[in-house]
Amino acid sequence: MLANRVNEIAASPTLAMGKTAKEMLAAGEDVVNLSQGEPDFQTPDNISEAAIQAINSHQTDFYTATSGLNELKKAIANRVKEDYDVTVAADQIAVTTGAKLALFTLMQVLINPGDSVVTPALFWVSYSEQVKLAGGSMQVVQTEDSDFKITIEQLEQLDQTPKLLILNTPNNPSGAVYTIDELQAIVDWTKEHDVYLLVDEIYGKLVYGQTQFHSVLELADLKNSQVIVINGVSKAYAMTGWRIGWALADSEIIQAMNKILGHLTSNPTVAAQYATIEALNGPQDSVAKMKATFENRLNYMYMAMLNIPNISIPFKPEGSFYIFFKVDPDFMKEHGYQNTNEVSMALLKEQLMAVPSGEGFGMPGYLRLSYAKSEQDLTKAIQRFKSFFTN
Ligand code: PLP
Repeated sequence: MLANRVNEIAASPTLAMGKTAKEMLAAGEDVVNLSQGEPDFQTPDNISEAAIQAINSHQTDFYTATSGLNELKKAIANRVKEDYDVTVAADQIAVTTGAKLALFTLMQVLINPGDSVVTPALFWVSYSEQVKLAGGSMQVVQTEDSDFKITIEQLEQLDQTPKLLILNTPNNPSGAVYTIDELQAIVDWTKEHDVYLLVDEIYGKLVYGQTQFHSVLELADLKNSQVIVINGVSKAYAMTGWRIGWALADSEIIQAMNKILGHLTSNPTVAAQYATIEALNGPQDSVAKMKATFENRLNYMYMAMLNIPNISIPFKPEGSFYIFFKVDPDFMKEHGYQNTNEVSMALLKEQLMAVPSGEGFGMPGYLRLSYAKSEQDLTKAIQRFKSFFTN
């Protein structure tokens, strides 16, 4: 008797696998959980302390503006100014309960039933389900031949000009990062075709090697534009549990978001808002330290996985903290696996490894792991992959 929309969407496969893995761990099983994109680091103490101080001084006892504290909006604007030398006004910012809610609210603001939304595969699992919840229809563009980035040629060939294009740079799960020229071409194309461009930059601080991250903010003035940026503190500041994210957009879009958010959350949790002010205004050395650790882990996993038979990595990730890898179809056939969902289940049962399958990200035949995990877990993961895929 539940509403149709419940049946029309899939549960988050990464959360589902993460939950099963956590239950197995709690039952004493030696599970290596590489499913969820969650840094294994604790939130830096200066950030937690800011929340504790706000609680002790009763600054957290009352509702704030729906779009967040002015002080937090100032901190977001200052960070944007420092990072990209771009000015963002307070009325161009909506702070939400995690970036996930900013994305959900934007889909509600932008999409009418039947509207077309385009995103390149690989894409983060929640985009497609949030688009469905808003009644939109998702066109997924395959990008295996262009390093997992959508090209202007592909946009030109779409059957239908979409209302909205969603990009994620650095990408979850491929780790691809758009160059400034690629971004510029996409900004120009969306402008020319009157398409909203939503860029999810939540992994923007996590790029490796020679790769440079560029924000679309460097290329587009938000005023009167159709460009929207999503960001948050979950990934770069090890704050997944605090649930703070935000959208940056033209004030009209932000006002529309606030209208909806006013009926959803009233405001993001105030202690978490104070913690985020400290995260953004305070010392940034913990971000640099975590990033360096992620980069070492990426290099370790990438090199070790190259030597494991029956799997291959199509592209060395440049950012975020995932490796998306292919399982050899002959290996699957020999072992009677119909798809990578079954491989993923077998890894969990036989090797106690939680590694979600590629289906939810728009590409069956692949598995995704997060290397934002302890070195001990990653070493175990390599041993277990070796024994699973060598047979
Ligand atoms: N966008 C992408 C690409 C993500 O991978 C995630 C989390 O996994 C989010 C958004 C949501 O982040 P938050 O924890 O701020 O809701």
